[in-house]
Amino acid sequence: MSSFDSILDIIKNSNNFILTTHINPDGDAIGSELALARYLKDEGKHVQIINHSATPEYLKFMMNNDSEIQLFKPSSHEEIIGKTDVIFMLDINQLNRTGNLENSIRMSKAKKICIDHHEFPESFADAEVIDTEKSSTGELIYDLLSEAKFKLDFDIALPLYVAILTDTGSFKYDRTTPRVHRIIAELIESGIDTKTVFREIYDQGTSNSIQLLGRALSSITQVCEGKVSYMTVKRSDLVETGTSEEDVEGFVNYNLTIRGVEVGILFFELEEGVKASFRSVSKIPVNKLAKEFNGGGHFHAAGARIIGQKLELSIREVLEETEKYVTEYL
Ligand code: 5GP
Ligand code: MN
Repeated sequence: MSSFDSILDIIKNSNNFILTTHINPDGDAIGSELALARYLKDEGKHVQIINHSATPEYLKFMMNNDSEIQLFKPSSHEEIIGKTDVIFMLDINQLNRTGNLENSIRMSKAKKICIDHHEFPESFADAEVIDTEKSSTGELIYDLLSEAKFKLDFDIALPLYVAILTDTGSFKYDRTTPRVHRIIAELIESGIDTKTVFREIYDQGTSNSIQLLGRALSSITQVCEGKVSYMTVKRSDLVETGTSEEDVEGFVNYNLTIRGVEVGILFFELEEGVKASFRSVSKIPVNKLAKEFNGGGHFHAAGARIIGQKLELSIREVLEETEKYVTEYL
């Protein structure tokens, strides 16, 4: 029996489902949730999506209504999470990535199912498919629905398309296999207008967010003989440009557009500490590097939240560690 079979078995024998994902959800997280929730509803199940963080504006075009995704509220959701039959955790394999839901999930008697494509899983699920060879969690949801012999319609194809589009960096990252392109072709055939989707996701900047990008670009500094490039975004940059945390999405990638750069880092000052985003080309495993700071992710894209520490110290510590990786791996 494949792991998908045991998940489908649990689905068949349960009625109430809760779906969740990681804090600061991306297109893969929200897309996977919406696709799976719509499938479960089609199967006559009762489904709620409950997340720690609000859904970013640029992903809201996929939603049929505002209540399709709920923001976690302890007073109303702790009991529901405790009593539900099944909790799906998508695009995460460490429970602390569910933010404020973590305790309720740990205490719940529900069957816990994890579908994910990241390394270093924590073992907590009753059933799981964790496949680091896959482009995205969206691709795994597609596989699950294929295994269930479910015929995709537009409502499910659209969020799956967004999941795969965003998690492959618009089909340019490592795991964008020929098979991924075949899946994408099938999804598009359900009626997706790819130009409109692209504009909804990538062309929604405001003049304020472009100002913020300008500041981030101006902060770029190269170290390790130009092999490492980093940028910094401070709270004061957000305040002074009238922007918010979600406007920083994608900034880190600009580091890699500089010739010769092997590792790009974004240091983003949080209210409670620092978020470091890592990107690499070629040989440096930034998920290992992020793990040194209690983070994780993929070989070429990873992140860590360094809580309770000042920006300058975090930058110094992370750059010191990065230099060691450059020496070891290049
Ligand atoms: P980003 O830098 O775009 O936020 O994240 C890049 C990748 O690293 C994503 O696949 C994300 O799941 C992972 N990631 C980001 N932040 C964290 C973190 O704090 N902990 C873990 N385990 N993974 C993270
Ligand atoms: Mn993902």
